[in-house]
Amino acid sequence: MQHEKIKILAIDDNSDNLIIIRALISEVFPNAITMTALNGVKGLEIAFEKAPDIILLDIIMPGMDGYEVCKKLKAHSKTADIPVVFITAIKDDKRNRIKALEAGAEGFLSKPVDTSELTAQIRAMMKIREATIMKKNEKERLEKLIEERTSELQKTHSETLNLLKFFQAENEKRKKSEAALKESEEQTRLFKRAVDSSSVSIIITDLEGNIIYTNPFFLKISGYEKDEVIGSASSLLKATLQPDTFYNNLWKRILSGKDWMGEIKNQKKNGEIYWVNAVISPIISSSGETTNFVIVTEDITQKKQLLEDLIAAKEKAEESDKLKTAFLANMSHEIRTPMNGILGFAELLKEPDLTSEIQQKYIHIIEKSGARMLNIINNIVDISKIEAGLIEINISDSDINEQIDFIYSFFKPEVEEKKMQLSCKKPLPDEKAIIRTDREKLFAIFTNLVKNAIKYSNQGTIEFGYLPVDLIQKPESLVFFVKDTGIGIHKDKIGIIFERFRQVSEGKNRHYEGAGLGLSISKSYIEMLGGSIWVESEEGIGSCFYFTLPFCPAKSAPPVDLRTENEKK
Ligand code: ADP
Repeated sequence: MQHEKIKILAIDDNSDNLIIIRALISEVFPNAITMTALNGVKGLEIAFEKAPDIILLDIIMPGMDGYEVCKKLKAHSKTADIPVVFITAIKDDKRNRIKALEAGAEGFLSKPVDTSELTAQIRAMMKIREATIMKKNEKERLEKLIEERTSELQKTHSETLNLLKFFQAENEKRKKSEAALKESEEQTRLFKRAVDSSSVSIIITDLEGNIIYTNPFFLKISGYEKDEVIGSASSLLKATLQPDTFYNNLWKRILSGKDWMGEIKNQKKNGEIYWVNAVISPIISSSGETTNFVIVTEDITQKKQLLEDLIAAKEKAEESDKLKTAFLANMSHEIRTPMNGILGFAELLKEPDLTSEIQQKYIHIIEKSGARMLNIINNIVDISKIEAGLIEINISDSDINEQIDFIYSFFKPEVEEKKMQLSCKKPLPDEKAIIRTDREKLFAIFTNLVKNAIKYSNQGTIEFGYLPVDLIQKPESLVFFVKDTGIGIHKDKIGIIFERFRQVSEGKNRHYEGAGLGLSISKSYIEMLGGSIWVESEEGIGSCFYFTLPFCPAKSAPPVDLRTENEKK
């Protein structure tokens, strides 16, 4: 600040004093502007309006005294920095000086004002003023700087905040994606566990049908090791066990992106065949391309077997039903026929004029009918006993040659009546033909088979007996046979004739009498005695029934002589 341009305000109620001050100032500071006010209020007005550099202030003034004016000046921001110099009449008025300092004054001048003192005071005030202005400017500069820095800091702060928010958001995103990744990993693990522990076979193949994954259940079912199947073609998709068309249709469907469902015949490592219910689905990528196939199969071998058994049981039940009807009709016929014979010819016998020859004929027919009736009743009783487990086996020494002789002579007349021949084979010498068996049962078996041979033959020869025995080899069983040149048995029926009530011609097609029990009873007896029965037959040529019985020579039988005839001589 140039001293010359300083503005000084002098406030004094005495105009003379003001003139003196003005004069003094212009003398020392010719360029200074001196403003004057005759009271405190006016002084304050000028101070606020003109902002002087220094205020010279009288203390004692009417109305508002100098202290009051000074306090007001110092209280207002606009004037607070203007140095105030009190002008007092009493030079060493200590009390007033303290009061003035308390009011905020910066300096003191005593009246009458001395030029040098005024100059010194003004210069001092000017320095204070300059310092104050400098301080103020510096403060303003600093404040501005602080403001700038603060705004910069605020900017940086808000940028940092934004960055922080960004990082927080990024962090949240990362956390979310980490959680999503963890969840998807957990899901993948769950799927893997589910697939691994599943009780159905699961296979994943490439587009050529080569296996790239199988679950443990498939390995368990198929018997293969993991290394043996991975990379190899899935046998489920390999055209080996079913016709080509089957696999062609399957491939066509799955390659078109559709599921295939159905039953597939498959093979285990050990060659065993098993059936599976399969669902084959293409795995389609997000771009819509088929990348793999997944094959889910359930082993249905047992179910299929069960179904087959059920169908067989159903068929058997239906057949049994048919058989029951046929049996009832058959039994009715088998009982009525001899009964009619007995009653009818008994009635005829009542005729008074019958010749004895006719009478004998009728009696013979009645006897035959009675025997037939008795045979049926015996068969029914026997089969009932067999079913009830009431049959007893009586093992004793049985002379089989003797039995064969008896049967031969018993049936010979009947065979010859049919213009046929009967012969028997007994290769063992009589003394060695005694075995331990149930003779009654053996007799019943032979009788049944020979009777059938006669019944089902109309020409030729009936031969029965047992096959030659190699006594050196000591066979375990004797093979008996009854051979005829009769009607024979169709190969489809050979399996059923040993069943109860089963006949080759059943129902309305029956041509021969009989209840279908003889072979079933014979079979049961043979099995009870430890043997077995079978037949070799050709329709229209004849049949040969074979049965075996354990070859247990009787204890009483003499030791076998193995010497040749020459040796004996
Ligand atoms: P059936 O009383 O009907 O003769 P079987 O049980 O003795 O009863 O015989 C069952 C069936 O076996 C007969 O109905 C017949 O069809 C057939 N059969 C038995 N023996 C012979 C045979 N020697 N030649 C031809 N068929 C026979």
